[in-house]
Amino acid sequence: MAESDDSLALAAEGARNENTLRFLKSGARGLYIGGRFVPSLSGKTFETINPANERRLAMVAEGGEADIDAAVAAARKAFDHGPWPRMRPADRAKVLYRLADIVQAHTEELAELDTLDSGLMISVTRPAAQGIPDALREAASWANKVQGETYPTGTDHFSFSLREPVGVCGIIIPWNGPAVLAARKPAIALACGNTVIVKPAEQTPLSALRLAELISEAGFPEGVINIVTGFGLGAGSALANHPGVDAMSFTGSAAVGQEIVRGSAINFKKVMLELGGKSPHVIFADADLERAVPNAALGVFRNHGQMCFAGSRILVQREIYPEFAAALAKFAADMKVASPWDPDAKIGPLVSAAQFERVTGYIDLGVREGARLSAGGRLDGGKGYYVRPTVFSDVENRMRIAQEEIFGPVASLIPFDTEEEAVAKGNDTVYGLGAGIWTRDVGRAIRMSRQLRAGHVWINGYGLRNEMAPFGGFKHSGIGREGGKYSVEFYSEMKSVFISV
Ligand code: ADP
Repeated sequence: MAESDDSLALAAEGARNENTLRFLKSGARGLYIGGRFVPSLSGKTFETINPANERRLAMVAEGGEADIDAAVAAARKAFDHGPWPRMRPADRAKVLYRLADIVQAHTEELAELDTLDSGLMISVTRPAAQGIPDALREAASWANKVQGETYPTGTDHFSFSLREPVGVCGIIIPWNGPAVLAARKPAIALACGNTVIVKPAEQTPLSALRLAELISEAGFPEGVINIVTGFGLGAGSALANHPGVDAMSFTGSAAVGQEIVRGSAINFKKVMLELGGKSPHVIFADADLERAVPNAALGVFRNHGQMCFAGSRILVQREIYPEFAAALAKFAADMKVASPWDPDAKIGPLVSAAQFERVTGYIDLGVREGARLSAGGRLDGGKGYYVRPTVFSDVENRMRIAQEEIFGPVASLIPFDTEEEAVAKGNDTVYGLGAGIWTRDVGRAIRMSRQLRAGHVWINGYGLRNEMAPFGGFKHSGIGREGGKYSVEFYSEMKSVFISV
């Protein structure tokens, strides 16, 4: 269903690229199954809303259990009988390189669709989309590195191992990096010879559907990539529970992660879970405060706080606590809250009404729990799901605002005295995704990085990434690691072969 030109012009305000507008006008937003765009079998659709102005951007096919059955059948056929897992790795890589080249010419519209659909600032979505072609090429480069080993034996036999694709992989992605995750997560699975079914988040389906159009031009055999839009309880749960799916890769909340694990029990799927966090960012008195203050602020406020590894608990050593708290509050108060298209905006709207309710609910809770609101709070009135960057000071680590993932621009400042106390408070959480440390003392940085129970430790620079390094979390932050050879390990099965000599 296409929107009228007038309502679309209002809903898509800010977007400039003609392909973005053409895509929104086309109304062709079905599911991508078996190499074809099809409506959902139920005929149902759902609307996707621009969180900056609360207007409807588009109607999208609502995939359900029957559509997931169809997608799994297509992916199964492509895996069990099709050429993809059997072709020369270099030929698989070629298709991914071709997709990278196609995407390269269309990054601007992917960025614009993400800004419209998610409210993330164009200054964030644009560089993210521009990184997709290289991420696809990087994934393609792994196709011929899916290697086994040989093992030392006596003279009676010879033994080696093969690394083979797992099979049909379900990939469920969240709304806080829609285009990048819809492209990058399946790419390495594909490079390894798997076939995939991608389920984008219901809040942000558009860029994945545009990506599906680009994928359809790249020359993948039919059924190798399938994209099914729909809700978590519906398309998502049907995928996670499907006995025809061999592996599930999920990025999202811990609560849904538990559902994915439950679904995996049906047929012992491999699971990789990249979940949430309540990551500590520890600032010692000897830190370079000029850099530590903006880094701590952006460590939690970037993406409007909608980041799994947001450094949402900022632990500050007592002797610099008043000075640091004042500087952080000022930094937050100075961040411009504005349209995601405004080049000076530092904070745009949250993704949805539900997320707005959740985050403002936590802000009210922080006040009730007795924390001091030193910056931000609700931004009432006007259209769009805007929340100001919010700083709570004098937070106690046991408070719910310090224990539960808020997934919004809310920082909790917590004082500490000693290194031991910083470690104890830092680790006093069910999560273990990230941890930041600011100190000029190398010994302390190393001691702390060993003791903090988290998948990533950032010293004097929160949030640095390297695609080759393992990405993932301890405890409730997930299972497994993504990135380079760690993704290859997940998306492959090992087989030992023994030959009598
Ligand atoms: P958030 O709460 O931040 O929206 P979720 O973890 O709920 O994050 O969503 C991340 C992804 O998981 C989305 O694609 C969503 O549709 C999907 N999802 C939500 N619930 C389920 C479920 N029960 N089973 C499978 N997928 C789900």
